[in-house]
Amino acid sequence: MTKIKNIVVLTGAGISAESGIRTFRDTGGLWEDRSIEEVATPQGYAADPELVLGFYNARRAQLSTVEPNTAHTALAKLEAGLAKEGGNLTIVTQNVDDLHERAGTQNVIHMHGELLSQWCRACNQKFISADAFTTKSSCPKCDVIGKVRPDIVWFGEMPYYMDTIEVAVTNCDLFVSIGTSGAVYPAAGYVQMARGLGKQTLEINLEPSEGSAFFHDTRLGKAGDLVPIWVDEILSA
Ligand code: NAD
Repeated sequence: MTKIKNIVVLTGAGISAESGIRTFRDTGGLWEDRSIEEVATPQGYAADPELVLGFYNARRAQLSTVEPNTAHTALAKLEAGLAKEGGNLTIVTQNVDDLHERAGTQNVIHMHGELLSQWCRACNQKFISADAFTTKSSCPKCDVIGKVRPDIVWFGEMPYYMDTIEVAVTNCDLFVSIGTSGAVYPAAGYVQMARGLGKQTLEINLEPSEGSAFFHDTRLGKAGDLVPIWVDEILSA
């Protein structure tokens, strides 16, 4: 068997569930008891910006109360192990938390934005802040009041780094999906792209995802249990 050197891992909310961050699907399509339309669409923001800003302030504040789990740390170990052998790990995450980075992973692509990044719609600049924002907050770049929104890709908006992700999938030997329901496109379509390019594919999830049939292999269980085992297999192969 050829040694696997380049891996793309797509992660979703399920990888952070054991850290104490709730997912969408495990709660009936709600995000912390709010509907997706209310808090994860441009229309929801236009209808009630204070509510939406408050929702993301709470998600951002939660980051300081949670820690990376064994799945996040195993992926950081995989990145270091592959690099030693001239390989590469690209983590493409749908998550807006910072747990991959806090586990020590360097190469993380946040395709749906980040809780710690803010975006001023007046000057179009982005900045990192763990602060809470209201409709009365001003932008530290241009001082305009009330135009700072979370740098989160809402439903109906274009995900980030699509070209970079396609290059990473094209150049990988193995595509792995961890803790994602396979319900949110375009992320859910990357397995089909990988299969079309002849890549090996593996899914690790609590239950079969919506795109489960597209994967060569599926391992069912908690990411915190299964990811460290899989990483050890790869590094010892
Ligand atoms: P999702 O909520 O749709 O699906 C989560 C999947 O993870 C489910 O299939 C579930 O069975 C599985 N899962 C739950 N616990 C698990 C565990 N311990 N181990 C392995 N698998 C587990 O999440 P999604 O597919 O990422 O899509 C929803 C969107 O929600 C994303 O775009 C993301 O931006 C957003 N979101 C992000 C966070 C976060 O940043 N942590 C949290 C909630 C929602």
